[in-house]
Amino acid sequence: MRRTKIVATLGPATDSSRQLEGLIAVGVDVVRLNFSHGTAQDHKKRAQMVRDIAAQQGRCVGILGDLQGPKIRVTKFRDGAVQLRQGADFILDSDLPDNDGDVNSVGLTYKPLPSEVREGNTLVLDDGRIVLDVVKVVGNQIHTRVATGGQLSDNKGINLRGGGLTAPALTDKDRLDVKTAAEIGVDYLAVSFPRDADDIAQARGLLREAGGQGLICAKVERAEALENIDGILEASDAIMVARGDLGVEIGDADLPAVQKRLINQARSANKIVITATQMMESMISNPIPTRAEVFDVANAVIDGTDAVMLSAETAAGAYPVPAVKTMGDICEKAETHTSAMRSRHRIDDTFTRIDESIAMAAMYAANHFKVRAIAAYTESGSTALWMSRISSSIPIYALTRHENTRTKVTLYRGVYPVEMNTSLSTSREANREAVQLMLREGIVEPSDKVIITRGNMTKLDRGTSVMEILEVSDYLSSADDD
Ligand code: PEP
Repeated sequence: MRRTKIVATLGPATDSSRQLEGLIAVGVDVVRLNFSHGTAQDHKKRAQMVRDIAAQQGRCVGILGDLQGPKIRVTKFRDGAVQLRQGADFILDSDLPDNDGDVNSVGLTYKPLPSEVREGNTLVLDDGRIVLDVVKVVGNQIHTRVATGGQLSDNKGINLRGGGLTAPALTDKDRLDVKTAAEIGVDYLAVSFPRDADDIAQARGLLREAGGQGLICAKVERAEALENIDGILEASDAIMVARGDLGVEIGDADLPAVQKRLINQARSANKIVITATQMMESMISNPIPTRAEVFDVANAVIDGTDAVMLSAETAAGAYPVPAVKTMGDICEKAETHTSAMRSRHRIDDTFTRIDESIAMAAMYAANHFKVRAIAAYTESGSTALWMSRISSSIPIYALTRHENTRTKVTLYRGVYPVEMNTSLSTSREANREAVQLMLREGIVEPSDKVIITRGNMTKLDRGTSVMEILEVSDYLSSADDD
């Protein structure tokens, strides 16, 4: 059973119910609605289709809404794409009308850009394909020399190597999209280009104001975000290693080490981490990945990522379902590597909460006394989150009556949501319900042992405070012989 979760971006290639049914059937855990493309109506329709199909298939699928953020772009060209030759002069001009670009100059979506760059800066366009050296800034024009040439077409992105642009993380469009995200009831809201903890707090505030209860995911894609990572982690519930823009800003060569560090930092801070972008890029147009892509996915799994993400591979590719299936197979195999099953997570830490201590104790026991499964009664999902920060091969079942907790834990590595509606009054009843449900679902057999965590049934406040190791055979009968 795969522990690493798969996030698949929806788009035109997944709009038919046949494709979406296929994606969910092969194991997508979370779908990503990319607010950079499509209308509010498109996103609402896609979210509804996902929920309907997931319900038909008896699956639980989370929804992540991804805000566009202040992505800086060139505007459009008068006669289509231009070819920029190495050594040529090229001007980025804030005053140029939007459709008036040519081989000499093009307009900008972010008008203050000329006042934020200097001679000697490097601008990187179209995800690194074109590199421009800034020669001088004259009024609203940035005069550049082409260092790496190539074809430049409409609306391509621009990054400043090394970061440092002041554009605020939340644009007017984002503020509208937050409302759409709240109406949809997304489980996660991803904030693009946050600089610091304040950007995250602001996004959370806007989502709550709009009535949304989703968790907040910070996309780490600016050089400044790396400098402020402790604050960003504290303010967020999850982070995304957004390797596309981050790689352009800091240079690709630094990315692998940064990815490993971010995954470690997120897990240590009890936060979720998604590894994203170009993981299976060649599967946009090929039915199988390259070997390098296989290794990339596997290495992210071995690094400890909670989830791996597909972007254009599913949203616009020719093989969305095979991309998810192949990625899932790679994850499952990579998870058998010993480092994906052992943990020294917080081994020297002091715990401050009872529920957290029980979660840690359960994992320690599970990893050393091989039980078949862990069943964690949970209201908010916190117990399952703490547990899932410890690497293990034992599945963690989050038993909860709350639908939004079930869709939230879809992103937690090694955690599987289970609906548990019964109201229970004794410890034995709680144990028996959990064990019988796991028997019915084929999760355990009569000869197995399982670990259960739950509240103390005699107290009104039922925060997790109890861990028991149960013999399944003791709970085969449905009679209450307590
Ligand atoms: C990225 O830059 O890697 C990323 C995930 O963001 P987007 O797909 O929105 O560009």
